Amino acid sequence: MTDLLVRGGKVLRSAQSDIPEEADILIRDGVIVEIGSDLAADAMDVLDATGQLVIPGLVNAHLHSPGNLMRGTLDGLPLEVFMLYEVPLLSDGAEDPDIVRLRTLMGAAEMLKLGITSVADDAFFVPLTSCAAIDAIAQAYADSGMRATIGLDQPIVVEYDKYPFLKDLLPPELRARMDSLPRETAEGMLAHYDYLIERWHGAADGRIAAAVSCSAPQRATPDYLRALSALARRHDLPFFCHILETKLQRVLGEEKYGGSLVRYVDELGILDEHMQVIHAIWVDDDDISRLGRSGACVAHNPVCNMRLGSGVMPFRALRDAGVPICLGTDEAVSDDSHNLWGAIKTAGIMHALADPDPSRWPKAPEILAAVWDGGSRVLRRRQPLGRIAEGYAADLAVLDLDTPSYWPLHDIRRQLVLCESGSSVRHTVVAGHVVMRDRRLTTIDEPALLTEIRALEPTLRREAVALRESAGEVEPYYREMVRMAAARDVGFTRWVGR
Ligand SMILES: [Zn+2]
Repeated sequence: MTDLLVRGGKVLRSAQSDIPEEADILIRDGVIVEIGSDLAADAMDVLDATGQLVIPGLVNAHLHSPGNLMRGTLDGLPLEVFMLYEVPLLSDGAEDPDIVRLRTLMGAAEMLKLGITSVADDAFFVPLTSCAAIDAIAQAYADSGMRATIGLDQPIVVEYDKYPFLKDLLPPELRARMDSLPRETAEGMLAHYDYLIERWHGAADGRIAAAVSCSAPQRATPDYLRALSALARRHDLPFFCHILETKLQRVLGEEKYGGSLVRYVDELGILDEHMQVIHAIWVDDDDISRLGRSGACVAHNPVCNMRLGSGVMPFRALRDAGVPICLGTDEAVSDDSHNLWGAIKTAGIMHALADPDPSRWPKAPEILAAVWDGGSRVLRRRQPLGRIAEGYAADLAVLDLDTPSYWPLHDIRRQLVLCESGSSVRHTVVAGHVVMRDRRLTTIDEPALLTEIRALEPTLRREAVALRESAGEVEPYYREMVRMAAARDVGFTRWVGR
């Protein structure tokens, strides 16, 4: 690795710092080794940041890269109906590794241009996981220069068993078709995890890492959930798990597990500090206490939650219980971008809708702490992230302070949360490498990437039409299921204005 000196910037060291200080940052072997004035720069790469703001690189703590090519394809719909139009339910094809590589690289390019230096990618595979697709994702991140933690988000139970009411609503011939579709097994997935960990955990000088993922507890079996948890503990990996994103999932818990899905995973013994609980919207007081005791981190995806009408995550109640929160964009088909700055602003303002007491609304430092400290916590890297401090990973974003977001400059943290769109990001550094310099990526050939995307557009549009037609066949049953769940009294609501 090369050394790097970031010279003359105004350095905001962490979410807890209120005023940036002028300083040089010396980086060696991907790690910040010294912060001070007039540091020597013999025989090393220098990034001139004079007059610019230097902040820790952003952590996008929840993303599904397989949705990267689908932005703008769908109107808002409830999650369970939305997913029909996102993941081809009745598909028996296979993923093309070249397209997997392209879509992953495209997302990485967008994120690096926005100063997002790390991502937790909960990647799914349609219909089955393959080593070639795993390689395509991990290699794309390795080539992009980004830091990525990759999980395999693959359900192993038959479609209608993931939901309440659906088995009875579906006509027998559709149930039979679902039964006959190719499906992963626990053994098959554990073999894929062995491959992911062996081949990719720690690759690219440690930038690439493995996570485990069950997708969601209702999409797995108890034995598989326990095996994944054991794997997470053995290798000290994050464990990605979507829980209580929608009211329907609350109803599913009551119908199938006799209580909340948080209680279910807690009683299985797998709710611990490795777990990243994604969404946690329809949690009740008991769930929030369990989350607080567990050490698990919650991933908040506010733009996606609003887009799909899922509800408002109880931010303050979770924080009061001591639950760490991190922020994500979730998916390019439900955000519809990789722009974490949009999620940052939304998280900074949406919770005012759910609580009349302004003293309980999140403030800018708390949101930035979710991005940096929460992001670092969930990724469980040996080298901590999210601060500009000696011994921390050298992941930085350098922002131009002459953009309208800072006309005039009053309060840097408040303006990062409420004013910044990502358009001020000028340089991005990951592990001490300048991966974007003067708004040009150094690791990715952007014109060539765009040419590939344009060439693929006719195919993508055809696929989108075919997906809409195949989803239309089963949609009425899903809509009825969602209607039945919405009508159930679960004792509280996470929808505002009701
Ligand atoms: Zn998700």
